[in-house]
Parts: sequence; C-alpha cells; structure tokens
Amino acid sequence: MKTPTSKLSSLQLEQLAAWATEAINRSKSGQVPAYVPLLAEADRQGFSVQIWSIDGQILSWGSVATTFPLMSAVKPFVLLYLLCELGEKAVFDCVGCDPSELPFNSLPQLETDKGKPRNPMINSGAIALASLIPGENAVVRCQNLRNWLNQQAKSQLFVDELMLDSVNAMPNQKNWDLALAMVESGYLQNSEIALETYNRVCCLSGSVEDLAKLGMVLVNGGEAISENCRTVKALMATCGLYEASARFALRVGIPAKSGVSGALLSVIPGEGAIASYSPPLNKEGNSVGGLFLLEQISKTLRLSVFD
Ligand code: GLN
Repeated sequence: MKTPTSKLSSLQLEQLAAWATEAINRSKSGQVPAYVPLLAEADRQGFSVQIWSIDGQILSWGSVATTFPLMSAVKPFVLLYLLCELGEKAVFDCVGCDPSELPFNSLPQLETDKGKPRNPMINSGAIALASLIPGENAVVRCQNLRNWLNQQAKSQLFVDELMLDSVNAMPNQKNWDLALAMVESGYLQNSEIALETYNRVCCLSGSVEDLAKLGMVLVNGGEAISENCRTVKALMATCGLYEASARFALRVGIPAKSGVSGALLSVIPGEGAIASYSPPLNKEGNSVGGLFLLEQISKTLRLSVFD
C-alpha cells in the first residue's frame, strides 16, 4: 500500500459519508434556481462528491454517475484557456481582478466600474471573456474550449443540449443588460455571440469525476501552464464565491468556484481537488451542501492555505 503523503488522502470514507449525509440534511435550507426550468427540476437531495489527492487516492461518495452543467464552475477554465491561448495582457485588458461585493449578475457593480467587468468569476467577466474565445461562432468556440479542457484534464465534458435549450427558453434579462452595458463601455463588441458562447460553455457538463479532474489541472499545472494556474487559483480564492469569498477565506481558506447548478470545485495547492454536486443554493448562489462539506474537510484536516 502507498504511504499517504497528502493530508487529504488521510480522509476515510466513513467520515466522508457522515459529513455528506449531514450536508444533504443542511441543503434543505437552500433553494434551486427558478430562472432555468431544468435546474429548477433538479433533485434537491441529489449529492455526489469526488476527492482526488496528489498521491493518487480517489475517494467518492453519492451518485457519482450523475452529470450536471458546470455553469459558473466553468469560469476558472475559460480564464485558464484564454491565459494560455492569448496571454495575460489580452485577458486583463478585458476584465479586472478585484473581488466584487455585489451578486454575480449585478448591473450596479458593472456600472460602478464604468463598464469594465470587475473579475472573471462573475457573469459580466465571463461574458466578456467568452467573446475572446477563438472560433467563428459560439458552437466552434465552445468546441475549442471543450477539446482543450478534455485534453488537459482527460475529462469527458460534453454540451448538455437539453440544458442549453432550457437556458435559452427563458432569456436572461440580467445577462443581456450586462452585455449591452459592456458594448456601450467598449469592453464587448458583439453581445449576441458573447452571450451565445457564454450560455453554451455554462452548459458544458460532466460528473464530479470530470470536475475533480479539471481541478487537478490547476493543482498539478505542468511547467507550461503553471503560472496561469496560479493566477486562476488566486482569483478563485478571492472571487470564486462572489461576495461570500472573503468570509469563506477566513472560515475555510481554500480556493473554490461554485455554479448555480450546485457544482462546487475546490483546489488545495499541494494536496488535491474536491468536486461536489448538491443543487440547493444559499442566497449568494453557492451550494449549501457543498460548502458545508468543504468546511468540515478543511477544518478537520487543517487544509486552509493560510494554516
Ligand atoms: N449560466 C448562469 C447564469 O448566467 C451561470 C451563473 C452561475 O452559475 N452563477 O446565470
């Protein structure tokens, strides 16, 4: 048997199962989003988690075969892809890197910032970055991103077309308002292709295994991409949970990114990645069960990056 070299690999399945059961219980206080009909139909009790340690241990619990759209959990990977393809200057000419104190789809935040999206982890930033993805249309852009990610992570992300239909069934006025404001400020050229690309990449879907594998790209980041991985992890730590990010850094101290589907990805430098799926969200739009589980793991194993 391998000697564990990471703290994460000392976690026992029994302990994980006990926390996950309590996480499901606590998630009853959360809400599933109403603005995408298929997300509103998600199984509120559904729960899956997969944990990868750098020393090769994989621990899973729950319905790990379930696939779900990444939604905003794709944002760190849009950022990583563009940093690698276009470089830092092109990316940060287009988006800022400061935390936001308002919700992820806030127009007032964008207006305060004179139309420059504050960071890549909120909708305005990701919509602006979607417009930079190479490709002649949204389908090709998403395909380019998907191929690159699947190659880097050895994951099997796919576009959930039914979810995309559901996203498109109820046009998202808030995202439209953000896109139009960015066209006005000059940070976006074509709002249609940007939104179409953004919606499509948010529907890139997979299981907790796929999400954990994506996380391991950020943890292991080979030489060619390691600097970009560091940038992405820093932005996850400061902006990944929107206006809750600073409080989360104090309590848990792990770079993380959530999505409205209930996806939550955490990456622990030098340790590994934790991917979970639990649909009910708190008021900031972060998975209640996922956050609870992560806090237990972090506190018990002393995984805060500030420890
Ligand atoms: N597609 C979603 C939206 O634009 C993503 C937001 C999220 O996951 N927080 O509303």
